[in-house]
Amino acid sequence: SHVMVCGGTGCTSSGSDNVAAAFVNEIKKAGLDKEVAVIRTGCFGLCELGPVVVIYPEGVFYSKMKPEYVPEIVEEHLLKGRPVTKYLFGETVTEKEIKPLEETTFYKKQMRVALRNCGIIDPEDIEEAIAMGAYEALGKVLTTMTPEQVIDEMKKSGLRGRGGGGFPTGLKWEFAYKQKETPKYVVCNADEGDPGAFMDRSIMEGDPHSVLEGMAIAGYAIGANHGVIYVRAEYPLAVKRLQIAIKQAREYGLLGDNIFGTDFSFDVEIRFGAGAFVCGEETALLNSVMGRRGEPRPRPPYPAVKGLWNKPTIINNVETFANVPVIISNGAEWFSSIGTEKSKGTKVFALTGKVNRTGLIEVPMGTTLREIIFDIGGGIPDGKRFKAVQIGGPSGGCIPEEHLDTVIDYDSLISLGAMMGSGGLVVMDEDTCMVNVAKFFLEFIVDESCGKCAPCRIGTKRMLEILDKITSGKGEPEDIDRLEKLATTIKDTALCGLGQTAPNAVLSTLRYFRNEYEAHINQKK
Ligand code: SF4
Repeated sequence: SHVMVCGGTGCTSSGSDNVAAAFVNEIKKAGLDKEVAVIRTGCFGLCELGPVVVIYPEGVFYSKMKPEYVPEIVEEHLLKGRPVTKYLFGETVTEKEIKPLEETTFYKKQMRVALRNCGIIDPEDIEEAIAMGAYEALGKVLTTMTPEQVIDEMKKSGLRGRGGGGFPTGLKWEFAYKQKETPKYVVCNADEGDPGAFMDRSIMEGDPHSVLEGMAIAGYAIGANHGVIYVRAEYPLAVKRLQIAIKQAREYGLLGDNIFGTDFSFDVEIRFGAGAFVCGEETALLNSVMGRRGEPRPRPPYPAVKGLWNKPTIINNVETFANVPVIISNGAEWFSSIGTEKSKGTKVFALTGKVNRTGLIEVPMGTTLREIIFDIGGGIPDGKRFKAVQIGGPSGGCIPEEHLDTVIDYDSLISLGAMMGSGGLVVMDEDTCMVNVAKFFLEFIVDESCGKCAPCRIGTKRMLEILDKITSGKGEPEDIDRLEKLATTIKDTALCGLGQTAPNAVLSTLRYFRNEYEAHINQKK
């Protein structure tokens, strides 16, 4: 048997370290330590029910675990083969109802591609990753494919950037490949900063090798020997696991010189971000890596032409890189068979807010928002009504009930005034004031604006002042017009993506919940 204890950030903070220690202790006492291994894994996804423990081979899922439950589980489940039903899923279920994790309502509609190893392997042990197929794809490209073939495969797969923009990954790689200048660089954007988002963090914590392998494959494709991961210093567990993974990969000859006995060399270093949201913007990120002020610069030139130290550079985010090895191993055709016509594969979301099962999920593109919120997320707590879902973080927008059957893909979300963003999903119920939601996101933007250009620095501040006026009961009917005009001007004139998308929360709530703005204004009379 294997006792898998979640070692993701959510479960660690709810006490999974003590639960793991209790299992080690009790298993030893029961004389089972030769047969039963206790493994710390990455995130299972059901953070709200943490600390979670899964016992294999049965795949039985224990939730909200406490060290004091452990002796009973060891005695009953591990020694006598009878799962202790009262700790399952936080619900009372009978033994007959126990089902494997994959068949629970939370997992049934999910498809774990980027998260394939999260919750399954010990992320601090490269051998477990290798046993699950890590670095096979790297071996395949180095020994059987030319860089052109790799790029072609990526293009055929239809993979688009998971950091928010949705730019075709293969095309980006091709631009960098065609540049004559050397050296070239591969940069991983791990500066996940949207409020409520923890997709990239969980991948780095749960399966860091998938990111390193994806970066090495990208390096081979574009002709780069050097990779940089730009990760938030506020993600200490992710940083620790990346450091261990890099060290182990070097020891196993999977990073460094002559990988797989070829003449290809590739190594990765970590650079820390200090938590500025704007440093997720690629040109600001590059400036920060180079030790300069983390401010964006106009594009073109794009980083694929002039990036790090003015050399050709590709920047992809964590989830994008984690998809790369599976595409190479299973083939572009397999990957492009998942999803919608223009959005292929799966997407990881952090499901939070007023929903019964919060946590980390991965679904095929083309899944509807209703399926995510009601089937996977289990609907709205306390019998309340669903009101809206905010998708895409501060750059995204709010989607109301009438559009719940919209399928998740890059283009349909944009047509609704929202965007995929990096994958934050915040659910709101009938009690939520949508003007306050817009204000929350705008406050975040005002704090995070780097101040380089006036539309964003001054314009978003003015918008916030108007929102403050409206929510404090001093709004005038003309304020809605003022907000809209400012919003469209900022969208059209701000220098970088942060400013260009900053008004989205206001615009989308005005589009679907204008009556709430009007109600605030009329209230003063
Ligand atoms: Fe800075 Fe905002 Fe201008 Fe971007 S849009 S450069 S964040 S001030």
